[in-house]
Amino acid sequence: MSLGVYVSVPFCRSKCTYCNFASGVFSADRMGRYVERLGADVAACRALAAEHQAEIPGPVDSIYLGGGTPSLLLVEQLKSLFLAIRNEFQVDAKAEITVECAPGTLTDNVIATLLSCGVNRVSLGVQSFVDKEAASVARLHTRATILDDIARLRGSGITNINVDLIAGLPHQTRESWTYSIEQAIATEVPHVSVYMLEVDEDSRLGRELMAGGTKYHAHFAPDDDLTAEFYEAACERLNAAGVEQYEISNFARAGFESRHNLKYWTRQPYMGFGVDAHSMLSAADGSEGIEGWRFATTDSFDGYFTAAETKASPVTTEQAIEESFFLGLRLNRGVSLDRLRKEFGDRLDDYNQVIDELIGNGLLVRTENNLRLTPRGRMLSNEVFERFIEGRSLLAVEGK
Ligand code: SF4
Repeated sequence: MSLGVYVSVPFCRSKCTYCNFASGVFSADRMGRYVERLGADVAACRALAAEHQAEIPGPVDSIYLGGGTPSLLLVEQLKSLFLAIRNEFQVDAKAEITVECAPGTLTDNVIATLLSCGVNRVSLGVQSFVDKEAASVARLHTRATILDDIARLRGSGITNINVDLIAGLPHQTRESWTYSIEQAIATEVPHVSVYMLEVDEDSRLGRELMAGGTKYHAHFAPDDDLTAEFYEAACERLNAAGVEQYEISNFARAGFESRHNLKYWTRQPYMGFGVDAHSMLSAADGSEGIEGWRFATTDSFDGYFTAAETKASPVTTEQAIEESFFLGLRLNRGVSLDRLRKEFGDRLDDYNQVIDELIGNGLLVRTENNLRLTPRGRMLSNEVFERFIEGRSLLAVEGK
């Protein structure tokens, strides 16, 4: 069993209006203190695991620096972060090592540093190839910047590139959305992520949309039905172009699925460090009734330094089964009922009624011993997952 390592770097050049993450614009001094604290947390992780009789497997086969904009870190800070990880963990020579980057932050110096740290995958927060749309949500790049970054990454040898897109941005039309999708395909990057705009209280644009206001270009945003239509069109067009959907929001050319994110959806162990970071580890042998442990840090930047206690929650067998369903069903390949039966035995029968009901509603389909979401189930996935959770609140699970 191998381990994934996630590091949260919550720093940004400016705050995008749609962003509901625990990220922001911070001074160089605070960024420096944060990196120091991260190093200390990485060094202390085995003590935390031991306290809860949780197992840290090895070696590390995926590292993911997310955020935020990790490419904003000074090159010395990037190096010290990777050094802290390599000092604590044995990192597989073929590990997938991803860094999230905002277009326009990849100077030649940063790219050289990423390479020297072993980075072999970059995820670009593009969101839209249409300059007006990107500018309206406070992104600081243009289409030309994106294409230049992709070309320079490839020139450096980093060819495993992801492009993030968001459906539902202000000013987006059928034509402009089609343009962004076609541009993503034309770049021939091997991985594309497509998210539907999240409308909630945690972002400025979300609050404005909920209030029906006009700030942040909210009145130019497509409605929910049109956003859903954009998402469906993206699935169709990307699949046809050979960038195949393998998860609700993720598409890849064959062999380029994100190893790191697959760990989240298949309940493989990972450790997260920094603000609003989550971990999942198996319970050591002999932990009666406990399948594993989930750990979560605070989502407050200041709280991370002052009351930085990591919340630990045991995962019972029942929760582990539910997680197996609502995480595994995110994948197009679905979940293998045979595999779950091997892992959980007759406890799986407790879910027969829910499964039958969801199949009857046309949200799930069963082929022999494999259970998958139908296309309609994918659109209503949260409702499907809630049926498995049955109202119990679980720790939030990592994935953007
Ligand atoms: S969307 Fe990304 S770059 Fe924009 S504010 Fe949020 S974390 Fe920062």
